[in-house]
Amino acid sequence: MGRKPKINQNQPKKNTNNSESFKKADNKIVAQKQPKEITRLRGMRDILPDEYRYGDYVVSVAERICRAYGFAKTEIPALEQVSLYERSTGKQTDVVSKEMYAFVDKDNERVALRPEATPGLVRSYIEHGLFNLPAQPVRLLWTGSLFRREKPQAGRYRQFSQVDVEMFGEASPVADAQLITMGYLILKELGIAAAVQINSIGDAADRDEYAKKLVEYFKDRKVRVLLSVDDKKRLLKNPLRVLDSKDEGTQKALAGAPQMIDHISDEARQHFVKVLEYLDEFDIPYTLNPFLVRGLDYYNRTVFEFCPEGEDGSSQGTLIGGGRYDGLVEFMGGRPTPALGWALGVDRVVLKLKEKAPQSAGPAMDAPDIFLAQLGDAAKRKAMVFFEELRVKGYRVAQNFVKDNLKTQLEQANKLGVKLTLILGQKEIMDNTILIRDMESGMQEVFDFAKVYEEIDKRLK
Ligand code: AMP
Repeated sequence: MGRKPKINQNQPKKNTNNSESFKKADNKIVAQKQPKEITRLRGMRDILPDEYRYGDYVVSVAERICRAYGFAKTEIPALEQVSLYERSTGKQTDVVSKEMYAFVDKDNERVALRPEATPGLVRSYIEHGLFNLPAQPVRLLWTGSLFRREKPQAGRYRQFSQVDVEMFGEASPVADAQLITMGYLILKELGIAAAVQINSIGDAADRDEYAKKLVEYFKDRKVRVLLSVDDKKRLLKNPLRVLDSKDEGTQKALAGAPQMIDHISDEARQHFVKVLEYLDEFDIPYTLNPFLVRGLDYYNRTVFEFCPEGEDGSSQGTLIGGGRYDGLVEFMGGRPTPALGWALGVDRVVLKLKEKAPQSAGPAMDAPDIFLAQLGDAAKRKAMVFFEELRVKGYRVAQNFVKDNLKTQLEQANKLGVKLTLILGQKEIMDNTILIRDMESGMQEVFDFAKVYEEIDKRLK
């Protein structure tokens, strides 16, 4: 038999272990190549139960609030045609050019793991003719994993989760304000202090005009020299991306730059003013950020990001990002359909939540009220049947039927902090009784098995 592949229990490393090992077979020493260590890939994570419950909690709070605002859960494939993302995001954006996990499959189809959810949701909306649904606007809610081959670092993974909301068929500024309100309410309920930054980037024509103004501004050598090398390249390829550069020199250079908000159409400005008025009405605090453009080309008018309070808008810290994309549905082959959405980064929100509430104070696991202990084979069998009966009836019960030792089981019951431990032993089986132990007082009493429900209900009240 060959050796089992070794599993590395620590951080992923490069697989360099090609050494040869030897095994004894039929009394001969045989040289055998040792399989490479199997580790998770760089930038990928296993989320173990203790951590997972935070994400679960974030998703449950977010989904509950979104559902209350009329959003319905939907699913889209993890694998789509590459052209979906190429077309929707514009090829020059980073997400498509370098960050996609794209490959040619065995049917010679160019496919990609979804780097974001919006294009898939837009495709789904068009493909299923959701504009025909009686309930308009269409409000979709999606939760799942995304894949981006970015440089891994704190809070930036190659597979991560988002909760996404998208609203199709609504041009009113009320929709923008409502979506922002939902993001605010979710973070508030999670106890995360975050501020929303907001801007309007106008419509496509406004943006083209503004981009020209920006390029013109940077023709001045005095400001141009301050730009980083990357930003000089951006200025040529996608001038608006220079606005949200994190480079210090570029930020200095931008101090005197023309502002987008001064170059948008009256219609777009009116829309923005209304959004802000509604936010004031809902009492949602916001900061105007004239340099916020968001990374993708499909956005128009309102764009916004929630960052933890006290942190700047550096993309690493952003918890929720979103905006309007009124042209995208039509661009992707659908009818002209105003639309907007946001994405909440579950992993980032979990990091914030853990900073605030370390392990012990984190969201509680489903705590059991009862522990069912057993001693002896006959008792174990009866306990297994009884456990299922209790579970179906809705009691929260813990057990460890693989253990035979009563002391071990009681210790576990203690650790779990249950109120009651029910004990079945040989004697109880013979007498058709059950022992009920009150974990707080340590008192144990024997009851007729037929009375067990009556007794536990009384004690759990
Ligand atoms: P985006 O889809 O880039 O607008 O991102 C929306 C949110 O997803 C961000 O605000 C982050 O919270 C989260 N996010 C984006 N990229 C990553 C990543 N590589 N790892 C973890 N979270 C991410």
